[in-house]
Amino acid sequence: MWRVGFRWILVGNDRKEHEMATTLSDAYVGDLSDRITGTVLRPHDSGYDEARAIHNGLIDRKPALIVRCRTADDVVAALAFARRVELEISIRGGGHSVAGRAVTEGGLMIDLAEMKAIAVDPQARTVTAEGGVIWSELNDATAEHGLAVTGGVVSTTGIGGLTLGGGLGWLMSKYGLAADNLIGVELVTADGDVLEVDAAHPDLFWALRGGGGNFGVVTSLTYRLHPLRTIVGGLIAHPIDAAPAMLRFYRDAVADASDDLTVFAGLVHAPDGSGAKLAAMVVFHSGETADAERDLAPFEAWGSPLVVQVGPMPYPVMNTILDAGYPKGALNYWRSSFTRGLSDELIDIAVARFAGVPSPMSAILFEHFHGAVTRVDASATAVPHRAEGWNLFIPSVWTDVDDSDENIAWTRESFAALRPHFGAGRWLNYLGDDEADDAVRAAYGPNYERLREVKRRYDPENVFHLNHNIR
Ligand SMILES: Cc1cc2nc3c(=O)[nH]c(=O)nc-3n(C[C@H](O)[C@H](O)[C@H](O)COP(=O)(O)OP(=O)(O)OC[C@H]3O[C@@H](n4cnc5c(N)ncnc54)[C@H](O)[C@@H]3O)c2cc1C
Repeated sequence: MWRVGFRWILVGNDRKEHEMATTLSDAYVGDLSDRITGTVLRPHDSGYDEARAIHNGLIDRKPALIVRCRTADDVVAALAFARRVELEISIRGGGHSVAGRAVTEGGLMIDLAEMKAIAVDPQARTVTAEGGVIWSELNDATAEHGLAVTGGVVSTTGIGGLTLGGGLGWLMSKYGLAADNLIGVELVTADGDVLEVDAAHPDLFWALRGGGGNFGVVTSLTYRLHPLRTIVGGLIAHPIDAAPAMLRFYRDAVADASDDLTVFAGLVHAPDGSGAKLAAMVVFHSGETADAERDLAPFEAWGSPLVVQVGPMPYPVMNTILDAGYPKGALNYWRSSFTRGLSDELIDIAVARFAGVPSPMSAILFEHFHGAVTRVDASATAVPHRAEGWNLFIPSVWTDVDDSDENIAWTRESFAALRPHFGAGRWLNYLGDDEADDAVRAAYGPNYERLREVKRRYDPENVFHLNHNIR
């Protein structure tokens, strides 16, 4: 039996090397394979490179083992194996974390990508989905019943990481964050216990809604759903010269927006590959058609837009309209921060910085928080960011690795130039791999100490540390 007999000889480095060789011998790994319904991949196996590749092409890490789990029992077995042989553990949901923490270098990756079951209960208005589901799959499944929940604004992102990190999206002004709609999870803890966690576990359930992957492997998530079929949404684009005035208009126009209306705005490039710079607003309205017409009219009427592509569409379609801008394997380096308002000065710095952007795939965006997401108390879940205002987001995206230094430098310099206008908070889900500890602290904000207490209780050895770590 694989649990027996490897930790018995040698000392120091010799022992470690011997253990590793023993541990990962064919027979030993074969035994793990026999115990699970999923598959175990090693570097020489076909499919290994595809399985270790994640959304951000800058991340190139090689796990010693990838365990493609199919059940919670597979996760338990993979976790026990990794702990027994002291392999570092990473958890891969949808693989969209720009920080790349889903992949360990030399450790064991618990890969949930094949855990795809989705069960909608239309009467109870709930959906339970496994940890490998991505938002397009969940949105399509719930839309069949005319139901929806807040998910990410790009449909290829995993539900697991996005929800555990809070999960902002188009429906947040009406229904709160993805995490605010979570009503239960199945969790494999560091000790290998499989727990059904919901409001009956107040501390752990509180921590899971915003504490990221710190508390275990979430094998399924259950959400509350809301009736929703067609929304009115789309893109309004202006010439870049109009950016200073458009962003000022945008700031004032969303000041008293209804919960039905969410508008993000920013500085982007034309999606046709021409590299043309644009000032754009992406609008989303989930109310009655007449209300949508009334609320969206000022946005459509302002200035002399080059493009107004706004109309009714199914909710899942709205969540795909930005997908093409974020292709899998492109190189990503992101920075973001909540701001103190959207002042003229902040707008002008953003416009000036965008003039020198090196990649025609990068953007500077303003994500507006208002409505339901801001009516939740800052300590009600682990997500503290509940003030009305904006999250400034600089997603730098490029394709040629030789351009990396230039793109990373531009992103850092832009972030530094905008810093005088930042508030205290950072959006956990957007943090990069090279952010300092104070960025992680700013993401958890005043909830950090309570998160540490829960972490101490459920993962005192910090088994789950490849995340935005609560130490
Ligand atoms: C193109 C793009 C668009 C995005 N849009 C949004 C958006 O609209 N709103 C938003 O809030 N964020 C957004 N994000 C950020 C995204 O939410 C985070 O990167 C999130 O971590 C992705 O989840 P994932 O499961 O795909 O990631 P993964 O890379 O698989 O996982 C990231 C981390 O989350 C944890 N994790 C993931 N799944 C589990 C699980 N089942 N159990 C325990 N821990 C788990 C692990 O710690 C893991 O390291 C976007 C990212 C990209 C690349």
